[in-house]
Amino acid sequence: MKCRQCGGSAESVFADLGSSPPSNAYLSRAGLMSPERWFPLRVVVCESCWLVQTEDYATASELFDSDYAYFSGFSSSWVDHCAAYTETMVDRFRLDGDSTVVEVASNDGTLLSFFAERGLSCIGIEPTASTAEAARELGLDVVGEFLTVDLADRLSTGGLSADLLVANNVVAHVPDIVGFVSACGRLLGDGGVATFEFPHLLQLVSECQFDTIYHEHFSYLSLTAFEHAVVASGLEVFDVEELATHGGSLRVFVQPAGSCDRSVESTVGAMLHMEEEAGVQRSDYYAGFQAEAEAVKDELLRFLLKAKTEGRLVLGYGAAAKGNTLLNFAGVRPDLLPMVVDRNPAKQGKWLPGSRVPIVAEDEIDRLRPDHVLILPWNLRSEVAEQLAYVRNWGATFVTAIPGLEVW
Ligand SMILES: [Zn+2]
Repeated sequence: MKCRQCGGSAESVFADLGSSPPSNAYLSRAGLMSPERWFPLRVVVCESCWLVQTEDYATASELFDSDYAYFSGFSSSWVDHCAAYTETMVDRFRLDGDSTVVEVASNDGTLLSFFAERGLSCIGIEPTASTAEAARELGLDVVGEFLTVDLADRLSTGGLSADLLVANNVVAHVPDIVGFVSACGRLLGDGGVATFEFPHLLQLVSECQFDTIYHEHFSYLSLTAFEHAVVASGLEVFDVEELATHGGSLRVFVQPAGSCDRSVESTVGAMLHMEEEAGVQRSDYYAGFQAEAEAVKDELLRFLLKAKTEGRLVLGYGAAAKGNTLLNFAGVRPDLLPMVVDRNPAKQGKWLPGSRVPIVAEDEIDRLRPDHVLILPWNLRSEVAEQLAYVRNWGATFVTAIPGLEVW
């Protein structure tokens, strides 16, 4: 296929995870009576700009409908991350009551409300109706559309000019990265800064995080690949930091190219060098990933089959996209994993797409006293284990499948 970023040839297969329904297409009871739409889940790499990207993808309207159930405020570690981000940005860029913060993909307003509390003007851009409505209920202004160059021009003509533009955990979700980054650039005022956070490709590869691959993620980014979109948008990267979120992310700081406001930090060259050393610009870097993903899948299946044979009950925890990729790739069904617990009431009483494992409230853990709790969002494993510490009372253990099977 043609690379979605540079138009080059993107033919080498990085991962082939079979096929699955969109990972947020949770099923209602009525939905169980209908067939689901499954899409191939293959990821290729462009050998010109080194963007790792999904090969086949559903249309955005199909993936982000108004029932989209992800509310960022349900993860307490994410809320802490938002609070710390606000603190850092306000201090570093001297933001005050005269400053404007624009957040793209503002979700339920969890992050923006921290800026609003400090008296800054806040505007969210969020196309998903249910989460945008939740943000409005917090008193935030939300534009209910996808960010495009056209929307950015309309907002900018209307007088919107961002001192800080936040685009955290969204760039991987847009098919046209260059168009998206350009739109972000058009919303920046004089001296404005944009930050982009995304899971780092280096962690995906080194920790075999294949379950972060799903249809809603169009790209898996290194700084090397992302810099193409930044430069093509007339912008420049002036700083980069590594973060622990989502199993290892980058926070990339961007400003208009040639801006006199800030010089480019040495962190940028250092990160590009580290990626080059790791092999991001060599095809052999991507070649072994599929076999590693299959080994992880096989190990999980052996564990679940053995538990079933020996009469031990395994329950899942965390009905999120990661789990759906893993369970559908592995072909796990309710005979091996009878239910998955989730704290989000919007998901309880529904079924996971593809695997059709029922989603239940946490009370079921106490009622059924499982022998093992399989934590699907491994990036939140400490938080979940602390929250469910009571399962140790009856001798249960926790299980994580990635980067390799661990029972603890
Ligand atoms: Zn490319």
